Amino acid sequence: MDQTQIDALRAEPVRAFGHLIDGQHLGASDGGTMDVISPIDGTVLTTVAAGTQSDMEAAISSARTAFEDGRWSGQPPAARKKVLLKWADLIEAHALELAVLGVRDNGTEIAMALKAEPGSAAGTIRYYAEALDKVYGEIAPTADDVLGLIHKEPVGVVGAIIPWNFPLMIGAWKLGPALAMGNSVVVKPSETASLSLMRMCELALEAGLPPGVLNAVTGEGAVVGQAMGLSMDVDVLVFTGSGATGRRLMEYAARSNMKRVYLELGGKSPNIIFADAPNLDEAAKVAAAGIFRNAGQVCVAGSRLLVERSIHDEFVSAVAKATDAMRVGDPLRVDTQIGAVNSQTQLDANLGFVETATNEGGQIITGGNRILQETGGYYMAPTIVTGVRPDATLAQKEVFGPILGVTPFNSEEEAITLANSTVYGLAGAAWTSNLSRAHRMVRGVRTGVMHINTYGGADGTVPLGGVGQSGNGSDKSLHALEKYINLKTAWIKL
Ligand code: NAD
Repeated sequence: MDQTQIDALRAEPVRAFGHLIDGQHLGASDGGTMDVISPIDGTVLTTVAAGTQSDMEAAISSARTAFEDGRWSGQPPAARKKVLLKWADLIEAHALELAVLGVRDNGTEIAMALKAEPGSAAGTIRYYAEALDKVYGEIAPTADDVLGLIHKEPVGVVGAIIPWNFPLMIGAWKLGPALAMGNSVVVKPSETASLSLMRMCELALEAGLPPGVLNAVTGEGAVVGQAMGLSMDVDVLVFTGSGATGRRLMEYAARSNMKRVYLELGGKSPNIIFADAPNLDEAAKVAAAGIFRNAGQVCVAGSRLLVERSIHDEFVSAVAKATDAMRVGDPLRVDTQIGAVNSQTQLDANLGFVETATNEGGQIITGGNRILQETGGYYMAPTIVTGVRPDATLAQKEVFGPILGVTPFNSEEEAITLANSTVYGLAGAAWTSNLSRAHRMVRGVRTGVMHINTYGGADGTVPLGGVGQSGNGSDKSLHALEKYINLKTAWIKL
């Protein structure tokens, strides 16, 4: 990663982005434009089109036409594969441009963005390109005088609503399998991180994806997102974001065409440290990185640290030491480990959580405040709060910011009870040298992914999905394909 190249890219002005509908780059319509504020310094970076209901309807109608006339859905798998592989190559070729554009928009530190954004997006698109001609139908084990065939068909028009923390990675988790299975897609990026995802969609057209197969509409969630949710012509809605929006999407589906809705929501993931962890120093460093990278704006962040009481003080000191050693600041510097908080709104919400945590009896061990205010950007010191009661706000509500709450436990049973004491179930970890205990933790903690002696980093070969109010369905792995197909039975009398 070359700092000079990054600096050169950051010096370039960013053009205004409009919608991408029917293969055309469209400017703002009646809705006008919205300013894009860079969290790096609080300045206006560019504008995006503030989409309207009719923009969204035009995009959905274009996707429907494309689906019905078979320009993509009717192509042989090998032809679809070729286009998607080319797209992955283009994403890789434009990796630095995409990463810098995204960081200027959302504030993620560049070292992480490069790997987790274009790097992971290209890998995901390639994975599903390679998978698409290995998806077979089935022959049912029927009686001899009938033939039962199970066809796997694309669902039609997929609507994808994406959050701001990792727009390319999460975008690719939806677009890859949806397009691989022959669907048409309309994507709505987050209003606070549209740019890199819009650019990645442009590259899909460059790779040869026919017009209308992938449309992208920018704008407010409450306007264009709602129009997508309420559409009678979207067959499946896939979403990553907050629980509040997820709830609305289910309502929209119920009020419209009862479209299938898959939700990847938030978490309050427990990172459980037993005294018999194989390497407590390593565990402390990983615990700090597991909550503080991307300023805590990671759905699977290990935001609850549960520590066996006998090592509590010693371990908390080690995590605080690792935290204080992390470099917070300009996300476009290659050595930054914690970038900017995404927006003023998010920063204010984080500081509100710190105040509530102390009002509820927590003690701040490090951080707790805004920093680098002179830059005009939104930076927060990584914050550790000890003495967090299991029923405290910090133990129960997702912050989505750089705040770690610590709670001690006395026994394995208590650790499991505490781990399962929120409405969420997205990720978790247990650190132990005891193999049987490790397996008991995997079974006992109600979650979509359970790490043992590590935190994060699960690659695209395994599913990611929540239980409880962390969502339903899975992104990643071959299992994600299931969201984007319909099973159709052919029952044939012989
Ligand atoms: P958000 O729910 O505010 O926004 C997500 C998307 O929904 C945005 O594109 C937004 O424009 C859109 N939206 C907002 N209101 C809408 C409405 N009324 N109708 C339709 N669309 C609407 O979430 P966010 O703040 O962008 O993202 C943070 C949240 O996402 C956190 O809760 C985090 O945990 C979660 N998240 C989950 C995962 C996961 O895989 N489970 C991954 C990343 C983030």
